[in-house]
Amino acid sequence: MDNKVDLKNFTLEELEVFLAGQGKEKYRARQIFKWLYQKDAATFEEMTNISKELRRELAESAFISSLAPETVEVSRDGTRKYLFRLADGNSIESVLIPEEDRSTLCISSQVGCAMACEFCLTGTFKFTRNLTTAEIVNQVCAVKREAEVRNVVFMGMGEPLANLENVIRALKIIISPDGMQFSSRRVTVSTAGLVPEMGLLGKEVAVNLAVSLNATTDELRDRLMPVNRRYPLAELLAACKRFPLPARRMITFEYVMINGVNDSIDDAKRLVRLISHIPAKVNLIPFNEHEGCSYRKPEQEAIDRVHKFLLDKHITVITRSSRGADISAACGQLKGKLEKICSNSE
Ligand code: SAH
Repeated sequence: MDNKVDLKNFTLEELEVFLAGQGKEKYRARQIFKWLYQKDAATFEEMTNISKELRRELAESAFISSLAPETVEVSRDGTRKYLFRLADGNSIESVLIPEEDRSTLCISSQVGCAMACEFCLTGTFKFTRNLTTAEIVNQVCAVKREAEVRNVVFMGMGEPLANLENVIRALKIIISPDGMQFSSRRVTVSTAGLVPEMGLLGKEVAVNLAVSLNATTDELRDRLMPVNRRYPLAELLAACKRFPLPARRMITFEYVMINGVNDSIDDAKRLVRLISHIPAKVNLIPFNEHEGCSYRKPEQEAIDRVHKFLLDKHITVITRSSRGADISAACGQLKGKLEKICSNSE
């Protein structure tokens, strides 16, 4: 497969260009795209509305990659964690959080992560590499084979905006009416706060944006999330304000609550002030404890107090329940192949 191209790395437009380069008609791209993403075709032979001749030619210059989970762990609450082995031996994880009629799939965008957030298990390991477009979309293709996926969130391993080109391509495939046909309302990209890339994302695709805020002063955020030293709160919130939100949509601010660190009413007050000029909702995420970090989860009363304070200020707030904690599938617990490194060093 050395010099063959993986068709799953192409958006529809890029597939058109590729086919044009081979002297083929443009409309073929749409047909092939539908085979890839609506019928989950694994081979060119399956593409029966395409001539044998073209199928043979395609097979000479291109291939169709796919991922199959190496393991699937199922949590007591039904959350499923998929471990995928990549062609180069690295591995990544995706998590499916089933809910009656709106299962959410949380996918990874990188192997490891370079953001080094102090509280995040992925962040305590080194960055290995960006995922390709194909590796990102294939997580969705694989899980769709065995479960209905309603929402897709880029909240797994990695910082999606640090892999912007591939994430944008993957988003275009995921929301394309000729591709995976997800409504753009059901797709969310979560960022630690890469300000220039937020602007670029907003120009390219109209998906939902979530921003991991996690602290309300630069002093604390500098410590928790080193990215804040590059793009401090004022710049980050200005970028949120500029973000081209479609009508009636809001930016989600994720706020990981850590016991005694950022869970006071003063934090809540500052939070309200910071986001007051932005159409915003808040996701409170009780810190998930892990062996990589001495922080503790907040007291239930602290969560309730902050939750109620935000509600009283008319802010839409949800406190995220810690789904999948028993299989290390909860927020900030994904580590892919790094699992091995960890158990080897124990
Ligand atoms: N890099 C992106 C997406 C991955 S993290 C981002 O930073 O948004 C997804 C969410 O998990 C982020 O909001 C992050 O703050 C949160 N998170 C990380 N570690 C956590 C932990 N141990 N407990 C709870 N949430 C955590």
